[in-house]
This record gives sequence, C-alpha cells and structure tokens, in this order.
Amino acid sequence: MSPWAIFYVVPTPLGNLQDISERARAVLADVAWVAAEDTRHTAPLLKHLGSRAKLLAAHEHNENAAAGAIMARLAAGESVALVSDAGTPAISDPGARIVAQVRAAGGRVVPLPGPCAAVTALSAAGLEAAQWLFYGFLPAKSGQRQKALEGVYDAPYALVFYEAPHRVLDTVADMARVLGAARTLVIARELTKLFESLHSLPLGEALAWLTADANRQKGEFVLLVSGACQTKAAETAEAERVLRLLLAENLPVKQAAKLSAAITGGNKNALYQRALAWKG
Ligand code: SAM
Repeated sequence: MSPWAIFYVVPTPLGNLQDISERARAVLADVAWVAAEDTRHTAPLLKHLGSRAKLLAAHEHNENAAAGAIMARLAAGESVALVSDAGTPAISDPGARIVAQVRAAGGRVVPLPGPCAAVTALSAAGLEAAQWLFYGFLPAKSGQRQKALEGVYDAPYALVFYEAPHRVLDTVADMARVLGAARTLVIARELTKLFESLHSLPLGEALAWLTADANRQKGEFVLLVSGACQTKAAETAEAERVLRLLLAENLPVKQAAKLSAAITGGNKNALYQRALAWKG
C-alpha cells in the first residue's frame, strides 16, 4: 500500500497574478489533483501556470463529500492541493473542515504562506495596532450585525472585517452607530488590482465619503477599525481639535472647554486644563 501523499493548502493571488509564490507555482504544477472552490475559476490559473493537475470541486456545500474524495486520493498516493477563488483557503473560505478531516485521519497537511486580503490590508492600514482581531464577514442583517459589533466594542485590538460591495454602506453606518464616530476606519478596496485604494477617516465621516462617489462603493473591501484602546486617543485628539477651533474664534477658555466637551463627549475639566496650558 502506498503511503499517504501530501495535502497542500495553497494561497492564490487576490487579483495580481504576479503575487503567486514560486513555491505555490511549483506545488500546483506538481500535484496530481487540485481541489478548488470553483473549478471554472481555477482552471485558467492552472493553465496559466502550465499545471496539468486534475480538478475536483471543494466548496462550502460539499465540504464533507470533498474531504472523503480528497482522502481517497491521498491514501492512493496522489498529492492534492487545496485552493480557493482568491487568497488563502479556510480564511472566510471553505477548507477548514477538509483540513481537519485529513489531519484527523493522520494525513500530512502542508500549508503554504501567501496572499490574504486581511493581512495585505493590515500591512498598509497604518493603525499601529500591536494586536488585531480578524472578524471576517459580519452578519448580513442589520440587527444581527449591530449585535455582533456590540460584541467587539470593548476589544482592544484593531478590528478587521471583510465586506461585499452591496453591503458596504449599511455596514459602515452600523459601525459608526455602534462603535462610535471617533474611531479610525481604513477602507481598503480592490487590493492588488487596477483600482486599488486605501483611505483612512473617522468612522463618523465614512458614509458621506462613500456616497460622494459611487466608484468608492465598488469592488472588494477590507474594513479596518481602530480598537477600543485606540479610541480613547482618537476621542481626545478630536476633542482637542474642536477646542483649538473654538479658542481660535476667541471664545473664553471655560466656554470653549464646555462646548468642546458637549460636542465631542470629551472631559470638560481635562479640556479646560489643556486650554489653560496652551494659553500659558
Ligand atoms: N480567503 C480570502 C483571503 O485570504 O483573503 C478571502 C475570501 S472571502 C470569500 C472574500 C472577501 O475577501 C471579499 O469579500 C473581500 O472582503 C476580501 N477581499 C478579497 N480580495 C480582496 C481585494 N483584492 N481587495 C480587498 N478585499 C478583498
């Protein structure tokens, strides 16, 4: 009986074919089978890479059956690579159940590092977060979405969400409602593609920014939001910005501090002390 062959987990480009790694190329060219989320989507990639691997379907609706088929091939000594449509399998994509079953059966699973929208976005978001939380997709219904957001309100980590274009406005509105207007939102759109864009702004301004130009609502999105501990700093910065504006209008220190606190929710006494220090 031949020993089990290797089961590879292979990330594929998010949009730019040059982002495939040398190792991913070699594996996809070498394996007997490629288990793909959508075989029609993956066939052109294999052709582009000169791979002659046979394709089998492994999507969210057939994961258990696919796991059985994959294990039969591995047991027969035929290597298999798992790919999703784009990025890393099992990250908001099918694959976790198959990987678990192969490993539980004693098979060897070899993961390759590679493209992932969350990590790609985070690398350029500039959120200076030591920790981050990958949430993936929020629920599609607003009530459930708001509940889910309440669940991460206190999390002291940068929050990373995936979102589809037809839901981005509603999601951003719910984020501002639940997480507050002061947090920084980074909108990372169409990463690695022709219309790639990254834009940072306070959550409270995001809806207006997105609706100002329909093109800003198109494509694929990663939404990153500063975490709870970062919110405090952002709120203080906002309160001080407003305070500075009011003082520039020659309002008395006490009144400016009071108004800034009322507008931004900042601490009146702290703002008063800050204004005195500036004046001094
Ligand atoms: N497994 C993939 C990964 O590793 O990133 C994610 C798959 S998930 C089904 C697809 C979601 O990822 C999209 O709806 C979007 O939120 C995000 N995404 C994928 N490609 C992207 C891109 N080029 N730019 C921005 N977000 C992207």
